[in-house]
Amino acid sequence: MPRLAGRQFLNIPGPTNIPDRILQAMHRPALDFMTPEFFDIQIECRDNLKKVMKTTGEVMIYASSGHGSWEAAMTNICSPGDTVLMCETGRFSESWAEMCRAFGLKVETLENPWDRAVDPNRVEDRLRADTAGTIKVVAIVHNETSTGMTHDIAGIGAAIRATGHPALLISDTISSLASMDFRMDEWGVDVAVAGSQKGLMLPVGLGISAVSEKALAMTKTATLPRKYYDWNELKTGENGTLRFAGTAPSHLFFAMREGLRILLEEGMDAVFARHARLAEATRRAVRAWGRGNGPTLFGRDDHALSNSVTAVSMPDGFDANVFRGKLLSETNVALGGGLSKLNGKVFRIGHLGDLNEPMILGCLASVELQLKRQGIPHGVGGVDAAVEYLAGT
Ligand code: PLP
Repeated sequence: MPRLAGRQFLNIPGPTNIPDRILQAMHRPALDFMTPEFFDIQIECRDNLKKVMKTTGEVMIYASSGHGSWEAAMTNICSPGDTVLMCETGRFSESWAEMCRAFGLKVETLENPWDRAVDPNRVEDRLRADTAGTIKVVAIVHNETSTGMTHDIAGIGAAIRATGHPALLISDTISSLASMDFRMDEWGVDVAVAGSQKGLMLPVGLGISAVSEKALAMTKTATLPRKYYDWNELKTGENGTLRFAGTAPSHLFFAMREGLRILLEEGMDAVFARHARLAEATRRAVRAWGRGNGPTLFGRDDHALSNSVTAVSMPDGFDANVFRGKLLSETNVALGGGLSKLNGKVFRIGHLGDLNEPMILGCLASVELQLKRQGIPHGVGGVDAAVEYLAGT
């Protein structure tokens, strides 16, 4: 592929743009990870992660992608044959369910159309019907990256509490954390599953779990095999530092310390507001394109459209992957593709992490340019609609 001038516009929904401050924080020699210098770095990271996740629970960190954090959650609280109620949200609930089955868990899917938000009342009804208390865990993806839908974790937490059912609530926050508000303790989440490469703006390589006392207590009876991810070996040690099942990924910690400082300097509410504005600008552009029989928003529940990623349905007869391919090869703008049953039907615009107005406008203008170039029907004025919105807010 010939070299394209200029920076790539990375509008996939993770990994996201890594700010220069974070890159520079990693540009240093390795250190002895058993020294007070590194203990201080770990403690700052853990304490700031708790602020971002809004929890007083334990935070565990692994050298892994988000998949490691998924696995940790299930193996620490479940035993073979336990039932997981997996709320269907999209490709990521599907693949998390596949992982559960691989560990010998029974997965009951709470079926839900991918373009709709999960209704907390349905979780409540299902738990009320489970009079024998067989459901051990309710699992849900807060922000389903494959569909661009955000699900109501506060509502689901409240629904579980209303029933008095003992099931634990596990929420995947991989593409919501540090882009949208997430309140682990207030919402009644027992395990929050996160990864480094999205809202936290870090390289891929850290899996993160925040764990409630109730979830931690479950490790005493849970018998699924685990070792690397065993929370009892990882939880805060006597001297207040985190522990690792192996060498601590120190450079990722240098990155995380800087990334969390950047987020907290901006202020989490300002970070969420910035994401909300850029997401709304994106949606305005897509709605304008859709008016001319062009691409439309995939999600059908307006209140649940994600502030970190927008999934866009291609008009019939046009392949989203062909569209994306040319967008990348001609203009160096990378978008996410449709996953699983949405392959070829949907493209996804990631607007999370270290992003500002010119970056999203550049992406939207390039999408509009390609729609024109490729002869794909669309309404005019998508970029104008985005500009109009940003100028007025
Ligand atoms: N869950 C969600 C919502 C995701 O978006 C992803 C990845 O994009 C994952 C889980 C899997 O995380 P990872 O690819 O870091 O293993």
